[in-house]
Amino acid sequence: MKLHAKVLQGVPDMPQTEEEADELARLSLKKMGAAQVYLTRVQKTKDKDGKDIHGRPYLAPAVMRLRLIPRYHESLLTAGVDSSWRLYFNPVFVMKSSIELLSAVVEHEIWHLLLDHHRIADKAGIPKWAATLWNIAADCEIHNDNILFEWLKKNGFDGLNHKSIGCSRKADLIAYYHELMERAIIYKTVQSGIPVDKKSYEVFINQTMSQEEYDSFSAITVIHKGTGVK
Ligand SMILES: [Zn+2]
Repeated sequence: MKLHAKVLQGVPDMPQTEEEADELARLSLKKMGAAQVYLTRVQKTKDKDGKDIHGRPYLAPAVMRLRLIPRYHESLLTAGVDSSWRLYFNPVFVMKSSIELLSAVVEHEIWHLLLDHHRIADKAGIPKWAATLWNIAADCEIHNDNILFEWLKKNGFDGLNHKSIGCSRKADLIAYYHELMERAIIYKTVQSGIPVDKKSYEVFINQTMSQEEYDSFSAITVIHKGTGVK
């Protein structure tokens, strides 16, 4: 794997040479493979309290369809999927995580694909600045399945559901998205030298900052304010 030297600089725990990066990518790929096998196991295992933990053998066809791609980039701290079933992951994150957590990550990401979130986003025409809200809404839809949500949490997955964002359970991600749009303020930070991409957008949900406080930040431009925002 070829690395852009700039990516390595100043990022904690990142490998410092091309050789180290290649080796870490190789090991992390192997570990992700082990996590996939663990996730789809038929035999149950026991947790530390002696309770049965079941695998997800029925997810095996979906898991096998994934293409695992190690990627070093500061915008990819953990893992994510694209619409072509490629699962990108940060090798540093993988090497620091347990197999249980990685299997939960794989399962969570698979549900983004099985629930067709990329196609729905394309159809709905989600603007770039709303990508964060869309992702939160998509996660809430996945975690509407409370048994799944509890299982992911048990494996160390730090996810959110409707309770974490303070609203009632909604039918699907479109409903969550509208709810969040009502309650969110999104602003663009303007810093010289930083290209305007989605990283330039900041999102506040349930924000109660006054107009005067906003005005005091000279480098921000409010680009969306939901009607439910005080
Ligand atoms: Zn997600």
